[in-house]
Amino acid sequence: MAELKFMETEDLDPKMFLCPYCGEEERIGVHSYKERLLKCHGCKLCFSETKGTVFENLHYPMWVVVLIIKRNLLPLAVEQVTVPPVY
Ligand SMILES: [Zn+2]
Repeated sequence: MAELKFMETEDLDPKMFLCPYCGEEERIGVHSYKERLLKCHGCKLCFSETKGTVFENLHYPMWVVVLIIKRNLLPLAVEQVTVPPVY
């Protein structure tokens, strides 16, 4: 079911993250795939994939957020960028 593709959890890619505590960019690893936690091997601290974002401490899976945004905000965005025809 292609329409439910957004509900699938993507793999964590440590290369896409930097440590929110010390700024380390290279030595980031996955601490837990299940809990979606990353670990900085520079300062030895763990952090979630949403640390430092508006989604930090969110107790819902990211697919719920995507669904809400898709259903509620995207139609508004499309209306706002629609340019009236020029006569
Ligand atoms: Zn760090």
